[in-house]
Amino acid sequence: MLASWLTGIQHLILPPTCLLCGASGAAGQDLCPGCAADLPRNISACPCCALPLPAGQTGPCQRCQSQPLDFARAFVPFHYHPPVDYLIQELKFHGRLIHARWLGERFAAALAERDAPPPDCIIPVPLHPRRLRERGFNQALELARIAARHSRIPLLPAGLRRIRHTPPQTRLDARQRQTNPLGAFAPGAPLPGPRVALMDDVVTTASTVAECARILRASGAADIEVWAIARAAATPTP
Ligand SMILES: [Zn+2]
Ligand SMILES: [Zn+2]
Repeated sequence: MLASWLTGIQHLILPPTCLLCGASGAAGQDLCPGCAADLPRNISACPCCALPLPAGQTGPCQRCQSQPLDFARAFVPFHYHPPVDYLIQELKFHGRLIHARWLGERFAAALAERDAPPPDCIIPVPLHPRRLRERGFNQALELARIAARHSRIPLLPAGLRRIRHTPPQTRLDARQRQTNPLGAFAPGAPLPGPRVALMDDVVTTASTVAECARILRASGAADIEVWAIARAAATPTP
């Protein structure tokens, strides 16, 4: 109540401004219609892992056909291309938390456009306590918080625990990325129901979310969907 009142006052004093170009924002949003139209939407994608597919191709990608992952679907509305990649990097590595709000709101808007039953809860991919201390926040949790608030789906921040400290996926090649997350997660708080949305910022090889999904399935989740802001195409294994 107080927060919405303050937001209303803020919009009266400071009209919404596009975070990307500085033009006036549309309908109380910090994004202008021109920049909104230019966002790199991941429209033609594999329904299972959200890998961008060549135009005209539908259905699961080759990997999901031959080796189904531990989750049923993935909803990742943007490509990991400018300006989304820059906004995520600034969030993670320079603590620009305003980008979490901005990206989370774009994600929630894309989510509202689709026709699918809501999950019972949203669980963020956890950081190891050591990484959390270094960074000061978990970007997946910050994004999940915004998505939960806008979509009115319960957030379960401690639904998974990270029990092993692993090197960042970005420092590894594609082969190492497959095995790096194995054994890194453990069950957390009890699940409120069988349908779970697992939230991360970027999906690249999908090995981190697949390992999280394996743990959630063992904890009773029957229908797991992966949610992330952006999909990067994995670099080929050398
Ligand atoms: Zn703009
Ligand atoms: Zn796929």
